[in-house]
Amino acid sequence: MSLHIQQNVSLQSFNTMAVPAQADYLTTVTSVPEMHDALSLARRQNLPVLVLGEGSNTLFEHDYKGLVILNRLRGMDVVEELGDLIRVKVGAGENWHRWVAHSLKQGWSGLENLALIPGLVGAAPMQNIGAYGVELEQYLHSVELLYVDSGEIGELSREQCEFGYRDSVFKHRHAPRAIITAVTFELNTYFEPQITYPAVKEYLQTRMRPSQELTALHVFDAICHIRRSKLPSPREIPNSGSFFKNPVVSEEKLASLREHYPEIVSYEHRGQIKLAAAWLIERAGWKRRQRDGVQVHKDQALVITNPGRASGASVMSLARAIQEDIAKQFRIQLEIEPRIY
Ligand code: FAD
Ligand code: NAP
Repeated sequence: MSLHIQQNVSLQSFNTMAVPAQADYLTTVTSVPEMHDALSLARRQNLPVLVLGEGSNTLFEHDYKGLVILNRLRGMDVVEELGDLIRVKVGAGENWHRWVAHSLKQGWSGLENLALIPGLVGAAPMQNIGAYGVELEQYLHSVELLYVDSGEIGELSREQCEFGYRDSVFKHRHAPRAIITAVTFELNTYFEPQITYPAVKEYLQTRMRPSQELTALHVFDAICHIRRSKLPSPREIPNSGSFFKNPVVSEEKLASLREHYPEIVSYEHRGQIKLAAAWLIERAGWKRRQRDGVQVHKDQALVITNPGRASGASVMSLARAIQEDIAKQFRIQLEIEPRIY
């Protein structure tokens, strides 16, 4: 076996929140046989296993008492061409944004709204990543897996992934027993714009000439520009993106909230109502507030930042205080989005 196993490793550079936790053991795998080896070693030594991409949706509240596997499985291969559709299998260790940029360069469209989302391809199905009105599930065909306990391989179709709003089977029945080794995408060879978010519409209206034909690359550039100008880069201020999911509530709940807060921000969402969690947090007075080196971002209240590189416990303490306050003020339980270990 060619695995290199390190002991007592700092995880600070392996999570974008820059929390200074430690892993008992850590290894990097670059092939499926290496992943098999890492899993059999963990089984023999009775170690829990955590597969990690870029750690951009992971918060270590404690040290990890087990084996952290950094997944670096590469590859982008066309598997089928079906008229207007193309199926491409992508290794779970490929960088998400590089894959999106590559797909557009080949003339395949669909993923342009999901540009610049941090992380690796293998983590994307976990929370059915989404941005600017597009979700991964719209372009995912299937997922290849390795089961941690048995070492067996498996495959799940889009339907079997049970995708929801920032949700999938990998957060529930398959957590944390299945490792995604590859994702097969089904993309379009034609372009169908999905421009429903005001920021994207406004950007394109001001940059495009009336006679110019809109392409997927224009949308990609717009999304990159908007994200860079608005969202804090974890390289500059450690963060893990939105810390809470937008709550989905009933029409009745919205009506009762509107009596007290007529300006509340809400959207129609799969037959229900999605509230903007950032609005609730800002309205409750948490924007910019800081405690023990942890701060609610000054421009986007949904993002908790960690400029002081404080512990995961300090991040969770601020997050729990926000949750309690929102529950008290609005009778809404905010759900934490990153995976907590
Ligand atoms: P990690 O944090 O490494 O892992 C996340 C979880 O997935 C962990 O539980 C891990 O064990 C599991 N996992 C990782 N790889 C695998 C695998 N191969 N098999 C099985 N389980 C695995 N998310 C959005 O949806 N939309 C956004 O617009 C968005 N914007 C963001 C902006 C910023 C600045 C940041 C910091 C985060 C943002 N996120 C967004 C969240 C994050 O980028 C995504 O959730 C991303 O998919 C996480 O990828 P990762 O490789 O960093 O995952
Ligand atoms: P934004 O565009 O200011 O919008 C604020 C919120 O309103 C978002 O949460 C978004 O919901 C919702 N929204 C806005 N316009 C909408 C519309 N036309 N229809 C339905 N919902 C609408 O948000 P932002 O913070 O700058 O982020 C932009 C996009 O990137 C969002 O889609 C957001 O989810 C995504 N993002 C995600 C993360 C993460 O970690 N999960 C981090 C940064 C950015 P949705 O969130 O459901 O889209």
